[in-house]
Amino acid sequence: MTLLDILPSLRGTTRPRLDPNIWPLTTGVDELGRITVGRVALTDIADQYRTPAYVLGETDFRTRARRYRAALPQAAVVYAGKSLLTTAVARWVAEEGLGLDVCSAAELATALAGGVDPARIVLHGNAKSCDELRNAIDVGVGRIVIDSPMEITYLAGLVRRPQPVLIRVTPDIDIHGHRAVTTGVTDQKFGFALADRRAARAAARILATPNLDLVGLHCHIGSQISDPAPYGEAVHRLIGAMADIRTEHGVLLTELNIGGGHGVPYVRGDAALDTGAFAAVVDDALTTACAAERFQRPRLVVEPGRALSARAGVTLYRVCGVKSQPGGRTFVAVDGGMSDNPRVALHGAKYTVALANRHPLGPSVVATVVGRHCEAGDEIVHDVELPADIHAGDLLAVACTGAYQHSMASTYNMVGRPPVVAVRDGASRMLVRRETTADLLSRDRG
Ligand SMILES: *Cc1c(COP(=O)(O)O)cnc(C)c1O
Repeated sequence: MTLLDILPSLRGTTRPRLDPNIWPLTTGVDELGRITVGRVALTDIADQYRTPAYVLGETDFRTRARRYRAALPQAAVVYAGKSLLTTAVARWVAEEGLGLDVCSAAELATALAGGVDPARIVLHGNAKSCDELRNAIDVGVGRIVIDSPMEITYLAGLVRRPQPVLIRVTPDIDIHGHRAVTTGVTDQKFGFALADRRAARAAARILATPNLDLVGLHCHIGSQISDPAPYGEAVHRLIGAMADIRTEHGVLLTELNIGGGHGVPYVRGDAALDTGAFAAVVDDALTTACAAERFQRPRLVVEPGRALSARAGVTLYRVCGVKSQPGGRTFVAVDGGMSDNPRVALHGAKYTVALANRHPLGPSVVATVVGRHCEAGDEIVHDVELPADIHAGDLLAVACTGAYQHSMASTYNMVGRPPVVAVRDGASRMLVRRETTADLLSRDRG
C-alpha cells in the first residue's frame, strides 16, 4: 500500500499522517501501522542496519530524474552531486540520462567509479587546486567551470588538447525568498561579476589561451528558490553577456548553464519550485533575450541537486529517552543529531518527523527532538506534535533528508557516520556502511 492508496481513508481525519509532498513517493503504511518506503518497513531497516540510518528511495530519485528530463526536453539535466553522492547514486544518474556535477577529487572519483561518462561530468569549485584540475583534464571531464583568475593560469599550463570550459558569472540577482541561500550577488566568493567587466576580462584571457575552448557561461543564483522569475532574469543577463562577447571577440558561445537551487518543501505548506513553471519561464526568457540580441539560442543546462535527492531520503533515529523540563518543554532525545544533520544548526532548517514503528492513536504533545551531541543547538525538529506516549525504543523517521545530510555529515563527538541504505520494490541494500570506531581510530597515528 502506498500513500495514494491510503489517502482516501485518511480524508476523514483532520490531516493525513504523511504529507505526500514531503515524504518519498513510495511511502506507505502497512497493516501494522508501520511506515514503509519502497515497500520496506522502516522498523525492519532499523533492526537490520541499526540507527541512525539514512534510507534512500531509489524509485523516488529515479522518478524525479525522469520528470526533470520530461519537463525540460531541450535541456541537459546535470545532477549536483554535492547534495548526495555514492557510486550507486552516480550509476542511477547515468542510467537516467543525466550528467553529473562534481566539486572535488573524491566526488570525481565516485562519479567515475559509478560508471558516469567523463564527458558528461562538470567540474565546479571556487578554489580548485592545480592537482584537481590536472586530474580532471587527465580523465577527460566534459566541462570545467572557471571560477577565478588563478584557474586560468593553472589551466593554461595544463591543457595539451582542447578543453571545453565555462565562466561562472554572478549576474547580481538577489533572491528575495527568506529561506533561500543567495550566491548570485556580486559581493560573495563565487564567480566573476558581470559588473565592472570582471567576467569580460576573464573571457578575453581564456579566449587568448591556446586549448581553452570557451563554450558558454554559467551561473548559480542560490538555493531553495521557489519563484522561477529570478531564473528568467538570469537568462536575460547572461544572454546579454554572451552577446557582448560575440561583439568584442567574434566568438559565439553555445551553452548557457543556469545552475540549480530549485526549492523543495521540508515542512507542510513550504513552497517548492514547480518544474513546469520553471521550464516555461526559462523558455520564454530564452526566446525574448535571444530575439532582442539576435543571438542564436544556446544549449540550456540545469543543475538540480536537492530537487532530485532531498525527498528520496528519510533518516531513522531510535528514541533514547523523553524528558520534560520545568517550564513545560518536552525533549525527545535520539541517537543521532547534528553530526548526521548539520542543516538545522547551519541554516535553521525545519524538518518533518513521524513515529515510524506504530500508528499513533492517542493524544499528542508538543515536543522538541534533540540529538545526542554536546551542543545546546543540537536539535532536529523544534516544537512538533508527537504522540504523548512516545518512549525510549520508538523509531522516528525524519523526512526530506536525502540532500546535504550524508554529504555534510561530520564525526563530531567521534560518532561514526550512519549507513546509507537504498530501498526499492520490497528490498533493501546497503550503499555505504556505517563508520565504526575502528574507522575513526585508523586515522589517528598516535
Ligand atoms: C550547490 C550547487 C547546485 C545544486 O544546488 P541545489 O540547491 O542542491 O539544487 C548546482 N550548481 C552549483 C554550481 C552548485 O554549487
